[in-house]
Amino acid sequence: MTDRIETDVVIVGAGPVGLFAVFELGLLDIRSHLVDILPKVGGQCAELYPEKPIYDIPGFPMITGQHLVDNLMAQIEPFHPTFHLSEMVESLEVLGTPETPLFRLRTDSGTEFLVKAVIVAAGGGSFQPKKPPIAGIDAFEGTSVFYAVRKMEPFRGKRILIVGGGDSALDWTVNLQPLAKRLALLHRRDVFRAAPDTVKKMRTLVAEGAMDLDIGQVVALKGKAPVLEGVVVRRDDGTTYDIACDVLLPFFGLTMKLGPLAEWGLNLHENVIPVDTEKFETSVPGIFAIGDINHYPGKLKLILSGFHEGALCAQRVFHYVYPDRKLTFQYTTSSTSLQKKLGVH
Ligand code: FAD
Repeated sequence: MTDRIETDVVIVGAGPVGLFAVFELGLLDIRSHLVDILPKVGGQCAELYPEKPIYDIPGFPMITGQHLVDNLMAQIEPFHPTFHLSEMVESLEVLGTPETPLFRLRTDSGTEFLVKAVIVAAGGGSFQPKKPPIAGIDAFEGTSVFYAVRKMEPFRGKRILIVGGGDSALDWTVNLQPLAKRLALLHRRDVFRAAPDTVKKMRTLVAEGAMDLDIGQVVALKGKAPVLEGVVVRRDDGTTYDIACDVLLPFFGLTMKLGPLAEWGLNLHENVIPVDTEKFETSVPGIFAIGDINHYPGKLKLILSGFHEGALCAQRVFHYVYPDRKLTFQYTTSSTSLQKKLGVH
């Protein structure tokens, strides 16, 4: 059965940037619904690095991915956004005119939205981990093989093998080493693409004998699926040896699958959506793109950039939602009307 919803704005993606957009829209009396493929809010922060510390959120010297998401949820609570989780926005139709936009969106669960503006905050689209080409690995996934660390505690006391040479592999090496029974990092060469500081920390741990560094590639898994007992590693010279481990964490990066977005008639540039830097509007009036999914000269894929983009696009959305109303700039510190909306006055 189709569930039909008429509202002001649909936000495609409930990552940190989509969440903060609710706040900026709410201050301007704009109602929003959020849709996300994931069963939870928070996008990459909640899915890929909930327990990792972030150091460049303004006003927070350090905050974990999940704590940031929790704070964003508390901040937008006064605006009562509606979430449609585990749903993917499949189609977007333009019904109105450039002056008076109107859109129909449909999800794969049959929810239909009729809205005056759409904010695409879809990050990297539906992101999927790149899997190593090892025969039979699927049978170990979720028990002994993991492509993301949702919680660190289940890994306590385990023999962990991390594979990869980028930021995720090195960050998790440094973060999980203190609670592992023994941890080894395996990479195909002794050169790492990760932040130099993290590489230095890893090398110190190796020099202290607190962990192992192996050079080679996993060619086979040992054990009776789904319980892993070790892996077979091949060196550059073709010889092989075994590493005993209970857990294998391959970090080979993510493939960004744009998904249905590619069919929505928006201009695309290398899988991101070009926008202007005044309103963050796409080639279709009334459709905005903010956060990791957009592109403009000088774009930095940082959470703080997405927050700024959300604030500016809300100003333009206001004109589509309330064409006859004048928008007056106000501070939350001094505006009684904004404070009433926030429930603090
Ligand atoms: P995302 O967080 O990617 O969320 C987008 C959401 O949209 C996803 O949940 C996805 O499921 C959903 N979606 C996509 N398509 C659809 C669809 N068709 N229908 C429904 N839902 C859809 N940034 C920093 O600023 N500082 C850091 O220190 C930092 N560290 C990082 C460490 C790691 C390991 C990683 C991976 C990233 C890091 N980042 C950091 C980057 C930061 O996480 C991203 O910039 C941020 O998550 C982008 O937010 P977003 O809301 O645009 O997209």
